[in-house]
Amino acid sequence: MTTRTEHPMSDIASFTHHLDRILALESTRRIIDDAEAAGAFPRQIIELLGREGIFAAKWQENPLPALEHTRVLSERFGRLGCGGIASGVTLHDSAIAMLRRFGRSERLRDVADRAMAGDAVLCISATEAGAGSDMLGIGSTAVREGDGYRLRGHKKMASPSTVADYIVLALRGIDDRREGRDDLALFLLPTSQLRVGKAFDIVGARSISTAPVLFDTWVPADMMIARPGTGLAVLSMALAQERFAMAAQILGACHLALGVTVARMKRRKSFGATLFDHQALRLRVADLQARVDMMRLALNGLIADGAGFNVRSASAAKVTVVRLGCEVMSECMHIFGSAGVLESESPLGRWWRDVKMARIGGGTDEMLWEIVAAGLEPDHASYDRLVSEWQPEQLAEAQAVELQVG
Ligand SMILES: Cc1cc2nc3c(=O)[nH]c(=O)nc-3n(C[C@H](O)[C@H](O)[C@H](O)COP(=O)(O)OP(=O)(O)OC[C@H]3O[C@@H](n4cnc5c(N)ncnc54)[C@H](O)[C@@H]3O)c2cc1C
Repeated sequence: MTTRTEHPMSDIASFTHHLDRILALESTRRIIDDAEAAGAFPRQIIELLGREGIFAAKWQENPLPALEHTRVLSERFGRLGCGGIASGVTLHDSAIAMLRRFGRSERLRDVADRAMAGDAVLCISATEAGAGSDMLGIGSTAVREGDGYRLRGHKKMASPSTVADYIVLALRGIDDRREGRDDLALFLLPTSQLRVGKAFDIVGARSISTAPVLFDTWVPADMMIARPGTGLAVLSMALAQERFAMAAQILGACHLALGVTVARMKRRKSFGATLFDHQALRLRVADLQARVDMMRLALNGLIADGAGFNVRSASAAKVTVVRLGCEVMSECMHIFGSAGVLESESPLGRWWRDVKMARIGGGTDEMLWEIVAAGLEPDHASYDRLVSEWQPEQLAEAQAVELQVG
């Protein structure tokens, strides 16, 4: 009989304690600050998390990661105030999710193990110049060739492709037996087999290192993660995980911004009192903090229900939290006055730009609302009981009564 040994960080308290300790190290801070200043994703962060067993503790032997570990990892990265780096870690982890759950071949499983150990950095790309929200508009293809597939095309946005070793590509799988728009397939490709362009100069989350990629190459069949027609479903699963993580990350960023803003309000004086003494400002921050607290509880609720990776709940969480995050950053920057808009005086402007990116990356607001809309249910019974629509006959009846009275 084999006995499964419990992972030393399977309980959330020791996981959190270990993660906090790693992130507080002077050497880690330096990696993050340098990367943020250079606007380039630091692969040392993935290596560090892997080496310290963070990904392994999240996944253990399961096909899905622990929800609570996912929340803590993203939340803690959000609190670092570097949206690009936090998102890069999430994308790496979402690619692991696809390989863990759907990677059937020895080769795919081996890459997943190396990614969890921090020896390989992963990224995912679906977006093309002509296909973003509408993934079924993807034009890059995977065509059968011998014992494998020829992958040909381009991707506009792949983060952090400049430092990644492997990329998960969403492609149209051309297969004699299938035709039509819903033919998306997913393949894993070593980045040594493609051309990575120069990283884009992005408005925010600059350290995510998003760059375009070009490819015309061959891979063995066992690099296929999802066969034609199943790619969208697999991608949706990974996106659900990414969206739940992004919601946690933005809550972490809000925690940092509100804490720093309250500190500023308690120190800065105007009209003989601190900014905190001015009710108009104090209540505005209290309102934001109240909503951030409620969203944190909502995320905990999703964890308790096991619904964090549910496509609809994760979409709802991301769109709601990110929009709240934009409001929080904007108000905090406002309360900082001129110091909020001077890059030399505070990071508020950078945080404000970072959170705005999250309204687009990982699915735009509108796409996420569409997912929620697909599940909206009409309450016909209550409508029939409570609503009576005005009918033209009523006017005739009213006129008849008026005539009688007159
Ligand atoms: C920082 C950053 C990093 C990124 N990293 C990656 C990555 O690693 N991999 C990757 O694949 N992609 C990545 N992306 C791309 C991102 O996923 C896409 O930008 C996003 O899906 C939107 O696609 P698009 O830019 O083509 O916009 P479009 O699809 O052209 O949409 C433009 C606008 O129209 C709205 N819209 C579109 N269709 C509808 C509709 N039917 N109803 C209502 N509104 C609609 C959208 O919501 C959006 O506001 C990244 C983006 C950012 C900002």
